[in-house]
Amino acid sequence: MRNIAIIGAGAAGLFAAEMFSADNHLTITVFEKAQKVGTKLRASGGGRANLMNTQIDGACYNHPDFINNLLKSVDYKVIKNEFEKMGLRLTADEEGRVYPGTLFSQTVIDVLLHNLGEKVQIITDFEVKKLQNSNGKWRVNEEKVLYDDILLASGSPAGMIAKNRQSYNSYLSDLKLVETEQVPSLVGFKLKKYPKELSGCRARAAVTLLQDGNAVFTEIGEVMFKDDGISGIVVLNVSAHYNRLKTKENCSLSLNFLYDDETFDVKGYLKKFGDLSGLLHPKLNRFYQKNPFNLRNFQMEIAGLYDMEFAQVCHGGISLDEVDDKFALRRYPNLYAVGELLDIDGVCGGYNLFFAFASAYRATKAILGNS
Ligand SMILES: Cc1cc2nc3c(=O)[nH]c(=O)nc-3n(C[C@H](O)[C@H](O)[C@H](O)COP(=O)(O)OP(=O)(O)OC[C@H]3O[C@@H](n4cnc5c(N)ncnc54)[C@H](O)[C@@H]3O)c2cc1C
Repeated sequence: MRNIAIIGAGAAGLFAAEMFSADNHLTITVFEKAQKVGTKLRASGGGRANLMNTQIDGACYNHPDFINNLLKSVDYKVIKNEFEKMGLRLTADEEGRVYPGTLFSQTVIDVLLHNLGEKVQIITDFEVKKLQNSNGKWRVNEEKVLYDDILLASGSPAGMIAKNRQSYNSYLSDLKLVETEQVPSLVGFKLKKYPKELSGCRARAAVTLLQDGNAVFTEIGEVMFKDDGISGIVVLNVSAHYNRLKTKENCSLSLNFLYDDETFDVKGYLKKFGDLSGLLHPKLNRFYQKNPFNLRNFQMEIAGLYDMEFAQVCHGGISLDEVDDKFALRRYPNLYAVGELLDIDGVCGGYNLFFAFASAYRATKAILGNS
């Protein structure tokens, strides 16, 4: 019997456990520091879990080449097939976002746990603080059991309050892996000289990230105005591209509220109707009356990103140089790192959960010797 341990019962850890459970020559233990498994998976997609996307492409991630290489062996169809083998019915919307057929994230967790059976032991309320190598095998904390292979699937501190982030992934420090700085991503922007009276307003706009006045990235969607900045899916995607910039100097956002009608005559409209109440959200209209602005280029300077607590993912993590294409750590035998623990982040649309599943799939196959 080979002894396998998985650190973290999140999306990647549970998916890997389910795959391992089909092999009768393995004993599998999952260590989870929280009381419940799958917390982030449950919260994903507003409780619906946007699991993946039919149009997965390297360009949707911060390291396109790494992802394109992974896609050669594990693409959307492979993961879809695995879920269908587990009995999970999937549904995709017009934009290719894939959800459980129930549109209920708990279904995914239930299906994964149901398929584990009794072979997999999940120990909750157990924080892995140390990993020690003993003659090629691994010890978890001070436990007696030695493990042949360990899958590190302990995620990132995104979405956590500061107190819970302090000791997050402390077991990694002994391993001395190269890690890139972790910063919040898929998160809103705080803006300088932000007009607070817009708080609570929603508007569709083309949002452009500018650096030194040059357009870096543009996407259209609904913008949500907060007390000191803006959010909404389109803004979260802009944050992913902002994080990819080498420096964050001289960055601003430009909002084009007339992106769908470049010939619209604002002056003529104002002359005819007196204000923009038929065109803009009431708060934006009132703001415009006091401070007329360019509806095609409403610019605000970026002050920074909202805190990690509000982020859906982390930009940064264990450097990709530390893993091979099967997610094995290059400098340690029999240790694998998958999911958001690694320096991979994608935009909104199911790309981050897909990476958690696909990396877990690839590592699991390698451990099972099937790769
Ligand atoms: C609000 C929100 C909405 C999201 N929506 C989507 C979406 O719709 N689609 C999408 O693709 N992505 C979404 N994401 C991102 C996605 O949830 C994550 O990228 C994904 O869950 C990462 O999976 P993971 O297995 O790597 O980490 P996680 O799912 O975070 O799992 C890691 C697990 O390890 C445990 N752990 C950590 N340290 C230890 C330790 N030392 N010992 C033992 N256990 C430990 C943690 O408690 C956790 O259970 C969302 C994220 C958030 C916060």
